[in-house]
Amino acid sequence: KARLYSGMQPSADSLQIGNYIGALLQWRDMQDTYDAFFSVVDLHALTQPNDPAELREKTRRTAAQYIAAGIEPSKSTLYVQSHVRAHAELAWILSTITGFGEAGRMTQFKDKSQRYGSDQTNVGLFTYPILMAADILLYQTHVVPVGDDQKQHVELTRDLAERFNARYGETFRVPQPVIQSETARIYDLQNPTAKMSKSAESHAGVLWLLDDVDVTAKKIMRAVTDNEGVVAYDRETKPGVSNLLTIYAALTGRQIPSIEDEYAGRGYGDFKKGLRDVVVAEFEPVRTRALELLDDPAELDRLLAVNAGKAESVADATLQDVYDRVGLLRRA
Ligand code: ATP
Ligand code: MG
Repeated sequence: KARLYSGMQPSADSLQIGNYIGALLQWRDMQDTYDAFFSVVDLHALTQPNDPAELREKTRRTAAQYIAAGIEPSKSTLYVQSHVRAHAELAWILSTITGFGEAGRMTQFKDKSQRYGSDQTNVGLFTYPILMAADILLYQTHVVPVGDDQKQHVELTRDLAERFNARYGETFRVPQPVIQSETARIYDLQNPTAKMSKSAESHAGVLWLLDDVDVTAKKIMRAVTDNEGVVAYDRETKPGVSNLLTIYAALTGRQIPSIEDEYAGRGYGDFKKGLRDVVVAEFEPVRTRALELLDDPAELDRLLAVNAGKAESVADATLQDVYDRVGLLRRA
């Protein structure tokens, strides 16, 4: 089986519906075809303002939601990044073959550092893509499913793998990004031209997997639309309605035209009620299962430890090879 690697930051108590549609549903389907590694990337999360107790809790909650959404810890290697030390160690080695200018060209860094200002921008934010490259390369990954915002980071990962291989001999597999399609991209319900994010400043337009159903229902009924009153897909002129159609289609497996037909001549109220029922029905069992898992943190931690062991054995083999190739003296 080809190897797959992907991860998510534990940056909120709950995942949002974009993570569910754009990542978890696809990962769930891919875990049978691939030898899949899914990581809760807590080391990456340290680049954001951090409360230690909250980070621990968010890490567990993120893992619980992966499982609740159908990632099976007996099938896929679902683990916590910091449990495998090789990530930080390989990131250091890779940083020594990364150009300063090369890292500075990463648009995510440019955006974030501009937003935060130089005093609030930590060096970890700058080296973030190098840690991500280490995540991927440690597992000799074939494919990396990511959103298009991460495409540049996977390109850097490929460049670093090729550079290392050319300099020190074949060591890393050069991974391929699998970019999620536009139809799997979800936008904020209140601001439907901005991507929905866990770390969005306002939560009014974010649908959280773990929210109470009535909160979710209200947010859907209040979603921004337009004055046309026609349920039709057009991302340019009707971003709000198009986004709701995308969610509807993704969760039901239906085609958008068939949904447009069903709601032809019926107005947005009916359409939103229909969507509300779809989302609530989808979220309810996931939420229940996640909360059950979180009720027994010791059992969850045990599962994560078993999977960390599986990840570690693969990662350590790659790291030892790297250490030998760059000329680090083996401890006797
Ligand atoms: P943050 O605000 O902390 O960056 P996020 O919601 O953007 O959080 P990530 O941890 O960056 O989530 O990404 C996790 C996964 O979810 C990635 O595979 C990413 O492509 C996917 N994803 C995130 N937001 C969306 C979205 N709005 N639509 C579809 N997929 C998404
Ligand atoms: Mg993100």
